[in-house]
Amino acid sequence: MAKTFLVVAEARGGKLRQVSFEALRAAQLSAAEGDSIHAVLIGGSGTKALASELAAYGAESIYVVEDAALDNYNSEAYLSALLAVTGEVKPSALYFGHTAAGRDLAPLAAAKLGAGQLSDVTAISRSGDRVAFTRPLYAGKAVEKKAFTDPDGTWVVTIRPNNIAPQAPDASRQAPVIDVAYPAPSLRSIIREVVKKTSGTIDLAEAKIVVSGGRGVRSAEGFQPLEELAAVLGGAVGASRGACDAGYCEYAMQIGQTGKVVTPEIYIACGISGAIQHLAGMSSSRVIIAINKDAEAPIFKVADYGIVGDLFEVVPLLTEEFRQL
Ligand code: FAD
Repeated sequence: MAKTFLVVAEARGGKLRQVSFEALRAAQLSAAEGDSIHAVLIGGSGTKALASELAAYGAESIYVVEDAALDNYNSEAYLSALLAVTGEVKPSALYFGHTAAGRDLAPLAAAKLGAGQLSDVTAISRSGDRVAFTRPLYAGKAVEKKAFTDPDGTWVVTIRPNNIAPQAPDASRQAPVIDVAYPAPSLRSIIREVVKKTSGTIDLAEAKIVVSGGRGVRSAEGFQPLEELAAVLGGAVGASRGACDAGYCEYAMQIGQTGKVVTPEIYIACGISGAIQHLAGMSSSRVIIAINKDAEAPIFKVADYGIVGDLFEVVPLLTEEFRQL
C-alpha cells in the first residue's frame, strides 16, 4: 500500500529550522515509488511565506495552519492544528525534528492516531519493502536498528538534528500550498512571554561548530575566550553541567544526558572532563577536539584531536589562528 508521508516542519524567528529539511530527506529515504511526501507548517502570521522553501526541498504539497494564537509553541493548540491537517491528509507516516517541540508533539500525535513511534533517529536505510531506522542507545555507546512491524500502519518518527543531510534545494520546484482551518481549543495553559536565555544567534542543537566549556572555565568571565572562538568559527557556545551547576552559564547551554544533544561537525570541549553524562550529548559529533590540562582526562578517549594544556592559553591562540584564515 502506498504510504503518505507528512513532515512536520518547524520555524523559529521567521525562518525554517534546518531539521525540517532533514526530516523531509528522512521521509524521502523512507519512501518507495508511488509514496507521496507532504509537509505541514504550523505557526503565527507570516508562516505561509515559508512554504516555498519546503517545496524547494521536495515537499509535494504544503499544508499551512496560520493563526496569531500559534505564534508560540503550545502542545494543545499545535496538536489541534496538526490533527486538522492529518484529518485531511490521512498520513501513514509523520516525521518530526527531534527538537523540544517535536519531542512534545510527536508522542501526542502518535497517541491520538494510534501510531507506533521511533524517536531520535539518526539514519534511515531501505531494503526492498523494509525501512530500517538507526538510533543511538546507552548515551551513544551503542546503536540499534529498528523497523515498524506493521509497514502499513501509521508511523511517527523523530529525526535527530544534524544527522541526515537534506537534498540540495531546487528553487524552481513548485508545490501547492493549502490553508487549513483548525478548531482553536480552549487552552488550559498559555504562553505569556518567552525569555531568551542565551545570547547567541545560532541554535546550539543545529550548530555546525560547538565550542563548549566545563568547570575548567572557572567563572562566567572565563567563557569569554570561548565565545570569541565560537564567533570566529561561526559556531555556538555550549557547556557541561559542571559549568552550569557552578553558575558560570545558563542551563539552556547544557549539553548531555539531561541537557541538549548536539551532533555538530566540530565539537571543541574546553575544560570538560568527559563524564559519561556529558558524552551522551556530544559523542556523535563528527570531529571532537578536547582541550584539557589533565592528560588523563576521559574526554581524550573520545577525542579525535587532543590538546593537553591550559585552555586560557590554547583557546586564544586558536582564535588568532582561525581569524587569519
Ligand atoms: P569536571 O569533571 O570538574 O572537569 C573539569 C575539567 O576541566 C577537568 O578535567 C580539568 O582537568 C579541566 N581543567 C581545569 N582547569 C583547566 C584549564 N585551565 N585548562 C584546561 N582544562 C582545565 N553533565 C553534563 O555535562 N551534562 C549532562 O547532561 C549531565 N547530566 C547528568 C545527569 C545525572 C543524573 C548525573 C548524576 C550527572 C550528570 N552530569 C551531566 C554531570 C556529570 O556527571 C559531570 O559531573 C559533569 O559533566 C562534569 O562537568 P565538567 O567536566 O565541566 O567538570
